[in-house]
Amino acid sequence: MKVGVPAENGAVESRVAATPETVKKLIALGAEVVVETGAGLASRIPDADYEAAGAKIAPDATTAVAGADVVLKVRRPAPAELPAYKAGALVIATMDPYGNEADVAAMAGAGVTAIAMEFMPRITRAQVMDVLSSQANLAGYQAVIDAASEYDRAFPMMMTAAGTVPAARVFIMGAGVAGLQAIATARRLGAVVTATDVRPAAKEQVESLGAKFVAVEDEEFKQAETAAGYAKPMSAEYQAKQAALVAEHIKKQDIVITTALIPGRAAPRLVSAAMVASMKPGSVLVDLAVERGGNVEGARPGEIVVTDGKKIVGHLNVAGRIAATASQLYAKNLYAFLETLIDKKAQALAVNWDDELVKATVLTRDGRIVHPAFAPKEA
Ligand code: NAD
Repeated sequence: MKVGVPAENGAVESRVAATPETVKKLIALGAEVVVETGAGLASRIPDADYEAAGAKIAPDATTAVAGADVVLKVRRPAPAELPAYKAGALVIATMDPYGNEADVAAMAGAGVTAIAMEFMPRITRAQVMDVLSSQANLAGYQAVIDAASEYDRAFPMMMTAAGTVPAARVFIMGAGVAGLQAIATARRLGAVVTATDVRPAAKEQVESLGAKFVAVEDEEFKQAETAAGYAKPMSAEYQAKQAALVAEHIKKQDIVITTALIPGRAAPRLVSAAMVASMKPGSVLVDLAVERGGNVEGARPGEIVVTDGKKIVGHLNVAGRIAATASQLYAKNLYAFLETLIDKKAQALAVNWDDELVKATVLTRDGRIVHPAFAPKEA
């Protein structure tokens, strides 16, 4: 059983899909692990550390994946890379398939079994494999660090001989995994933190972290969570009431961090240009939803937009900005899943295609797109 770990495209990705720790564990399960030279460098893992863990180092991606039964990646392989992959190889990565259907078709055409880790069901057994949570948690943390470094004032209240410095006011919009970590991080830095979400369950979680909850809590709000725990799209009427409340609140904030997403849709627009304009010069907004259309009007992917003294930060791949930690957790997520696909006695792959985790994540198999959300409809 050969496991290949090619390097990612360094222009867009600093993380890596295996660490010396997960390499060691895979070797203990009978795998031969081949890592492309330099694959871990941006995550502070030199080739020598992979070698010390028992991996072989390949000079290029083609050699790393040649004949591999499993390929571990952060992002899906580009179509041009696929000829190097063995037909039937399991390719485990975040596949980002929406809007990238041609690449999904290319993976089917190459005969690889593409596994989209972001479709892992959010059930107890799969928590250790949940790449969305492990990476969103770090993105929430990093968003506050980015905000603090763009903000030219201090976060905590300071009483000094030279005068008193007020605490920064931080408003977190969207209190899911990323937002809750952002609240905790901003609180640790000494900010006065408020937060909002459309899911009523978020109120208690926000308050348990010591932040104040700000939202219109009407009847619609009480019903705004799906059975799966995600946010529902809200009515225009609710959005208008909530926007009025938020507009008043934002005026008094120094930092706004937005994390609001709705699965399978564009991110909701929560902060208008007028709201940004109402903030004081020096205020900082960090839009973690910028890659999905953005929560903040005027946010631009990969840029820091400065208007009228206010900064709108739109960094891409925010978890990748803390790559060493992000890789550590991501690699562990992948290992935890791969372990379930291996027969430990036979030391060989033994995928149970009926397992709910496998069914939920397999995108392509045996030359076809098999995931129900992407497969061609039967005539
Ligand atoms: P997400 O990334 O899909 O969205 C981020 C947050 O934005 C969510 O809290 C959402 O309610 C909020 N949001 C959406 N529209 C909004 C709006 N108009 N205004 C304000 N906020 C808005 O969410 P997530 O971080 O993936 O978490 C979603 C849910 O899944 C949560 O209930 C979380 O606790 C749960 N979860 C469960 C598990 C598990 O059981 N294994 C793991 C992770 C998350």
